[in-house]
Amino acid sequence: MLGLSSAYELACRNLSVVLIESGWVGGRQSGRNLGFVRQQGRALAELPMMMAASQRWRGLGHELGSDVQWQMGGNLRLTNDPELASRYERWVADAASLGLDSRVVSRAEVESILPGVSEQWLLGIFTASDGHADPIATCRAYTAALRARGVQVCEGVPVRNITLAGGTVAGVATPVGEVKAGVVVLAAGSGTARLARGVGVTIPWQLVRQTVILTDPVPPVTRAAAWTGELFIRQDMRGCLRLAASARNEIVLNPAGIRHAGRFLSSYFANRSQLRVRVDAPSLARAVLRPLQSASGDELSPRPRVDDVRFCLERAQRYFPGLGAVRLRRAWAGEIDATPDALPVIDGGGGPSGLVIATGMSGHGFGLGPIAGTVIADIAEGTEPAFDLRPFRLARFHDGSRLQPAHLM
Ligand SMILES: Cc1cc2nc3c(=O)[nH]c(=O)nc-3n(C[C@H](O)[C@H](O)[C@H](O)COP(=O)(O)OP(=O)(O)OC[C@H]3O[C@@H](n4cnc5c(N)ncnc54)[C@H](O)[C@@H]3O)c2cc1C
Repeated sequence: MLGLSSAYELACRNLSVVLIESGWVGGRQSGRNLGFVRQQGRALAELPMMMAASQRWRGLGHELGSDVQWQMGGNLRLTNDPELASRYERWVADAASLGLDSRVVSRAEVESILPGVSEQWLLGIFTASDGHADPIATCRAYTAALRARGVQVCEGVPVRNITLAGGTVAGVATPVGEVKAGVVVLAAGSGTARLARGVGVTIPWQLVRQTVILTDPVPPVTRAAAWTGELFIRQDMRGCLRLAASARNEIVLNPAGIRHAGRFLSSYFANRSQLRVRVDAPSLARAVLRPLQSASGDELSPRPRVDDVRFCLERAQRYFPGLGAVRLRRAWAGEIDATPDALPVIDGGGGPSGLVIATGMSGHGFGLGPIAGTVIADIAEGTEPAFDLRPFRLARFHDGSRLQPAHLM
């Protein structure tokens, strides 16, 4: 998403752009995510950018010339956890001071936003200006818009390393030759840290795996994107439910993650109710293989967990007993690239001159994507971005800054 949106912005500014993708566009996080475009619950540092992104999403399909299946049905967060409820009440007040329309909703309103939901909730918060969109349709829309502007989109071409000349970025090396460039936007998701390391830049990161399921179409449930402490719920335009278990995210074992584990302790602690670690044979085998796979830009496609699939179906039926049987259509998994404070890295000054790093979206990058692309293009072009990017600078991990223990969700 970030490669696509920044390439699109740069192409719109009449700059010469090539997009290099090791797999296929949307093959990783950007095509595997839930499609929530939410301001609700975001860290305050991220909120101004996310509010601008939300505005952009409303006209994105029109702008790109293809339907991204945008629905502005709001975002509903429900909880039964008293500690979380008071945190969310405080967050609503803080967000209101930035001009966001989030509010605490009554039980009757919950029933009108999510009719038929059988559980009782301690607190619900709702942001009417939030929405959701289809991840694959969005990636395809960006790709088509890029090609229409004459941008070469090279799929199946892994970048092996970033090349330097006299300490300044000169381009990238690929198996089919070098691509020369005065500026390289490094937005390779889980592949970013390895490429950055090649030019002397260290990025602490960790992967968190989530299983997502798609059901067969069911009668209308909601236009909102909704989430509880257990489940993410989104109904697409065909009526299919896209569901994920919100408290069953799995830390992916890999050598890089283990190396940086100490930096993630406060984040693990803040998110402990949503995270788990598995030390079984398949997880260990994947951990051993991962460096080889990532060096070739071809990491293992993450598999969905059967018990998470069952959990999502069971919860959907429990929440909406009126739906009858909810049938599975497809399941997959995706790996979220997270930073120690769950805030992105968007930085043009963290490495050699000419390198712009955009990574570690920590589960927020689909929603942020369109505006992150603008910000990245500003940095690449040398224009002053319209947002305070200090919270997203890479140096915060290395200069002794006190990082807030972050909440992933
Ligand atoms: C299961 C799941 C659910 C999520 N739900 C949401 C949500 O509801 N809302 C939201 O806002 N965000 C969500 N996210 C997060 C969001 O999807 C990501 O933050 C966002 O897609 C990140 O985009 P990206 O471009 O940084 O990374 P990616 O989409 O991972 O793209 C990076 C690309 O770089 C390519 N690449 C890697 N190495 C190389 C190399 N050496 N050479 C060339 N190319 C390379 C990869 O193939 C990949 O296509 C979710 C993520 C997951 C996994």
